[in-house]
Amino acid sequence: MKDLLGGKGANLAEIAKIGIPVPPGFTITTEACAKFNQDKKLPESLVRDIPHAINRLGTMLSKKFGNTEEPLLVSVRSGAAVSMPGMMDTILNLGLNDKSVKALASSSNNERFAWDAYRRLINMFGNVVYGMNHHTFELALKKIKEAHKANSDTDLDAEALKEVVAEYKLIFKKHAKKPFPQNPLTQLQEAIVAVFNSWNNERAITYRSINNIKGLIGTAVNVQSMVFGNFGDSSGTGVAFTRDASTGEKIFYGEYLMNAQGEDVVAGIRTPKKIETLNSQLPKIYKQLIQIKDKLEKHYRDMQDIEFTIENNVLYILQTRSGKRTGNAAIKIAVDMVKEKLISKEEAVLRVSNELFEQVFHPQIDDKAKKNKKAIATGSNASPGAAVGAIVLTSEDAQALAKKNVKTILVREQTSPEDIGGMNVVEGILTSTGGMTSHAAVVARGMGTPCIVGCSALHIEDDAIVISGKKFPIGTSITLDGSTGEIYAEPLPLVEAKITDDINTFLSYADELRKKSKRVKEHPSSFAIRANADTPADARHALKWGAQGIGLCRTEHMFFGTERIRHFRELILASDSKGRSKALSKLLPMQRKDFFQIMSAMEKLPVTIRLLDPPLHEFLPQEESLQRDLAKELGIEPIQVAQRTQNLHEHNPMMGHRGCRLGITYPEIYDMQVQAITEAVIQCKKKGIDAKPEIMIPLVGTYQELEILRKRAEAIITSLSAKSRVSITCKIGTMIEIPRAAVKADEIAQHADFFSFGTNDLTQLTFGYSREDIASFLPYYLEADILTNDPFQTLDSAVAQLVTLGTEKGRSVNKGLSVGICGEHGGDPASIAIAYHAGLSYVSCSPFRIPIARLAIAQEIVRTSKQSQPRNTKKTQSTPVGAKRKNK
Ligand code: PEP
Ligand code: MG
Repeated sequence: MKDLLGGKGANLAEIAKIGIPVPPGFTITTEACAKFNQDKKLPESLVRDIPHAINRLGTMLSKKFGNTEEPLLVSVRSGAAVSMPGMMDTILNLGLNDKSVKALASSSNNERFAWDAYRRLINMFGNVVYGMNHHTFELALKKIKEAHKANSDTDLDAEALKEVVAEYKLIFKKHAKKPFPQNPLTQLQEAIVAVFNSWNNERAITYRSINNIKGLIGTAVNVQSMVFGNFGDSSGTGVAFTRDASTGEKIFYGEYLMNAQGEDVVAGIRTPKKIETLNSQLPKIYKQLIQIKDKLEKHYRDMQDIEFTIENNVLYILQTRSGKRTGNAAIKIAVDMVKEKLISKEEAVLRVSNELFEQVFHPQIDDKAKKNKKAIATGSNASPGAAVGAIVLTSEDAQALAKKNVKTILVREQTSPEDIGGMNVVEGILTSTGGMTSHAAVVARGMGTPCIVGCSALHIEDDAIVISGKKFPIGTSITLDGSTGEIYAEPLPLVEAKITDDINTFLSYADELRKKSKRVKEHPSSFAIRANADTPADARHALKWGAQGIGLCRTEHMFFGTERIRHFRELILASDSKGRSKALSKLLPMQRKDFFQIMSAMEKLPVTIRLLDPPLHEFLPQEESLQRDLAKELGIEPIQVAQRTQNLHEHNPMMGHRGCRLGITYPEIYDMQVQAITEAVIQCKKKGIDAKPEIMIPLVGTYQELEILRKRAEAIITSLSAKSRVSITCKIGTMIEIPRAAVKADEIAQHADFFSFGTNDLTQLTFGYSREDIASFLPYYLEADILTNDPFQTLDSAVAQLVTLGTEKGRSVNKGLSVGICGEHGGDPASIAIAYHAGLSYVSCSPFRIPIARLAIAQEIVRTSKQSQPRNTKKTQSTPVGAKRKNK
């Protein structure tokens, strides 16, 4: 019932039911919050119900609100359906007033404790309900501490704390223009209003926007009887994970503080102790906690993040939820739980979101560079991956520098929810205090940002940080290794991540599910994952990641080497066909070598080679001085280069003389490329390599274009094959990138062995948005909800319809037509799901995204077979089904 009760409320109700010790309480629903937001006042029925609920709670506990003997105290906490750690407000010790504080003092037999609880309430209440600055209370406390010569808060005795309370009440009255409310029901009502309002505070809105949390109606409010972790030495509070949230290892992992209350652990103000030490301090409680964590993990069949409080040797669980974890931990936990038979492989693949999965491919510090370097300090390795950036000390500076594309590392004593905007844009986060469950650690893990916390050697000054006596001013570049907790005083080179056995096992589950799916079982060649690879190195890379072929080799990228660009420019600048042939004869062996190496690397897997696509002017220098250099190099007049550049200038080059239009008007270029491909295949065959080339013609809009170019290519292949006596089968197909081509796909398919949707151009031409110029209005469109997603990232519904139409029409005349996607969308999980449902044969994406595609398709198969559509609250990339819904 998370939607109605929020995550916290739903879980508390559930664990209370299975016998976990939970302080009794009640939950006000998210629907009440929605009604409040709509009417701007508490619903009348709620106002009527609150006293009844409180009375019932009091009866259960033999306590009463505002009572002068056994006062009932409650906490008031937010809790939405999706966890938003620290973003909304919480009030503790509610129910205390001038009278009940005395009752608490005598019933607890601890006067100091009672007054400490009261001053905390006034502070929190003032801050949350009346927006009073926490700092104002801190200053008053500091003054009283100085007067009493107290070093820390705990040095203040009951009498001193009474002074603090008196002072706090004055501050409250001055700011709120009325005294601190003595009626506990008034306190409760005002607190509920404040928590409801916190749903729309700035940091909660920012958090939802960053995490693309949409469709929730508000927060629930949990009113729960207080238990105290600050009752003395047999009391404490802590946070624990049933497995290590950073590595995924099956060890009980947590931290606690004795004689502490509520947020002390999470806020990272005091550095807490490791959970194991509780075994020597309170062995019975430790044993009970172990039993509870086992029970909770079995019940939820997932790693849990548990908050607990010990009050006078009695253990209470205040919250449990699925623990946030790093990508590596998510994979390890999923794989281990399959092995432990706790979850199925289907569940395992759904357990790792695409964002988390991407995290494991985060860069790391190059081992070679690290060898001779010594870390200047270490902290706790809170979130993995390496980060290099300039030191900033505030969230505002980080945001300002991010706008200028400067990479930064945010260094703080601790972070708070106000820092969320900055934390979202930095490369890494470093804090001097706090543990693995501090705000910085939890939020960074969620964002996949490398983070180190609790670096005690670190001191922060106004404009610099000091580590072990050495000063590093703002702007100094440093490197963090979030996987080990090491900090380096200089920028170190980063390299790509290592693939662990767990990652391979996890991906084998994904592949197994794909192969087992009905459709792939019936048509083993459907749904493959290919790579967009332009060089032999890319091809090897792609194979390592599990590519089943190359779906797009952009040949123009091969012309950009220093030597090659010269020959290519010579070709463009040649004044006649003879001149062009001379330049092409120099390019031919280079292209042949490239194709041979790529096809050898891929062996029997298909390799789709696209003939030249971009407009020619892209290959000529635009600057005058560079044009002069080129003229000198080629022994021609600078004016010739300038004139040719001028001639080739187009107003809309992306819609101009490019793709097959070049092939038709300058046939020598495509002829050379087809020759190079054919000769490379012949070389492969002679070496016993069963190369599977596929020649792809770009930007076809009419079948005539394809017909002409296909005939020319076939003639070359046939002639070379005959000459070499090597039999060659080479598919010839086309990209579908122009809306007309999708609409006329039945005509085009009569001349094509395959289709590959170039969804980059298809999106550009469907919307009429230039691919290169979208940045000037896209952010606005997204913010104003004119567009739900960047259409160049996630397939738009209209483009998806063209893909479906083109596929259907193509196959209506060419039944077995192989159809793929090779635009950027081929690596986007939401678009992969669309491609799968459109009946495509494969998607092709950059080598780095292949594992992501392997997982995404398995997830979609599992979801579809379950025929369940889980709620989409994460980024669309992570939840293909949700995005598909949007695209309908
Ligand atoms: C496309 O248009 O989707 C495509 C793959 O080609 P390019 O990005 O090279 O234009
Ligand atoms: Mg294109």
